[in-house]
Amino acid sequence: MHFVYRSWYAGPLSKHARHFPGVTVLDWFRRSWDEAAREDAHEWVRRELGADVYGLYSVFETGEPAPTSMADLRRLMRHHLHYEEDLRVDDHSVRVLTNDDEVKLAYYFVDDALVSAEPDRWSYPVHQGRLLPDAADGPGRPFEPPVSPNTVDLGREGGDGVTYAVVLDFEDGDRSVGGVRSTAFPGVRLPELATALRESDADPERWSGEMLALRALTAPGEDLIGPALERRNRWPTTEDEIIGVHRRRRAALAYPHPRAHARALRLLDGFTPAYGRDPGRSLIHVGDHLAQMCVHTDEPFGHRQWFLFDDIWAAAHPGLAASLIHYAFHWDPRCTRRHPPHAPCADDAYLEIEHNNGHIVRDYEPYDEPEMLSMIAALDAAGEHAERDVLREILTGERAATRVLLVVNRPAHRDRHRRLIGVIAARLHRPEPGTCDVSVFVIRPDRRGEHAAVRTALRLWHELRAAGVDRLAFTMPHSRMGRAMVRRLTGLGGETPPGTRVEVPLEQVRRSSDRWWMTQAAP
Ligand SMILES: [Zn+2]
Ligand SMILES: [Zn+2]
Repeated sequence: MHFVYRSWYAGPLSKHARHFPGVTVLDWFRRSWDEAAREDAHEWVRRELGADVYGLYSVFETGEPAPTSMADLRRLMRHHLHYEEDLRVDDHSVRVLTNDDEVKLAYYFVDDALVSAEPDRWSYPVHQGRLLPDAADGPGRPFEPPVSPNTVDLGREGGDGVTYAVVLDFEDGDRSVGGVRSTAFPGVRLPELATALRESDADPERWSGEMLALRALTAPGEDLIGPALERRNRWPTTEDEIIGVHRRRRAALAYPHPRAHARALRLLDGFTPAYGRDPGRSLIHVGDHLAQMCVHTDEPFGHRQWFLFDDIWAAAHPGLAASLIHYAFHWDPRCTRRHPPHAPCADDAYLEIEHNNGHIVRDYEPYDEPEMLSMIAALDAAGEHAERDVLREILTGERAATRVLLVVNRPAHRDRHRRLIGVIAARLHRPEPGTCDVSVFVIRPDRRGEHAAVRTALRLWHELRAAGVDRLAFTMPHSRMGRAMVRRLTGLGGETPPGTRVEVPLEQVRRSSDRWWMTQAAP
């Protein structure tokens, strides 16, 4: 098993990785369960994993027996783990996104088998040590980045190769993990990058601030990019460091090279580190086809990372190259979706949707049966027999091929309210491809009026579109609540009698204007 902690407090790479040979994730949790509970679980986690993993201790304080399977571990984590944003436990991994009110933090436990099967997702996160390996000269090979880069034209049409720049940095704690797109410079390899940057016309509209600075910081006659990186390490980046400096610095950095460079040198002259920044703690390594800089930037967040590599390096280390570009953009290494920066990561094989109102939509699991029985009793008492009967059939296994989703509360609410709020049962691509047949969509009678249903539905429609569904098929509900919801979502009104089969195209379904995650993903 590999453990990875993605944290801005974790040193030069802002991540910490440890390998536990010969054990699976499940073995590790089983082995650790009682050991951690016997002492202070905080302290135990720090010692065993080598990092103070935010909130992880809570799963060892449940008082329940050790997990017997990954499904059981998923249940225990859902009910007891302190995490703020996202939790995914599948057969070979645990992936968590949380935050400490300052920055986001992610951690992963992953089986060796999954790392071997998905090197393009895991090689970089599990890589041990501070420096990535170099690559000797060799043939380049076409490299397809898993997230489309910002392509910057240096006027090198017909030149060999491509150079990629990945800068792991953040401006806003709420957006401090993921969302970073790489830059691609076609027609140039790392040994020619400094020259190519100097000879290009920089477009401040298309270039990132980091790449504008890098260009301005190369000196005439320099072949290698190393000296420019050394200068970047002593380059003012915060407001306090650039006080008194030209406001339109970005535009000034895009001047023709001699002028931009002269201005950059003047900025270097006046540099006084602020906010605990210590250039002496930075790490710069320049190889033939990979340049890496871990630049110490402030306290307590420490370092930011720059990687410049070309297609020759990517051909020698395809897993590292792909997983690094994926890591920069997605918090979840198993995210299978093309989505806009900072939109939620999604794993199409594992549905778990978190709403900002604190509700989660996830698959039904056997341990949910007691809650389901209580929901059936509540529907029975409310006289909603059609819905009750569908739920009964789900429990008795008469609804094969139906995906059953639950709307549940966040664990933090579990002591105050019931966990199960609603049930959705649907068959994807039935009765024909592109249609989703919804057998039931019901909210507990005592939990209505919170708009949980409409919000959940809107979010699910978005997921369905991503899964290639463009029509909904359902039976017009009998309950007042069901009919009100259909009216709000589709505009279908009272003239459609209960029990009638209806099909509506998803475009007809109301779109929510105030939810940024509703925007269709841009590749
Ligand atoms: Zn707790
Ligand atoms: Zn993602």
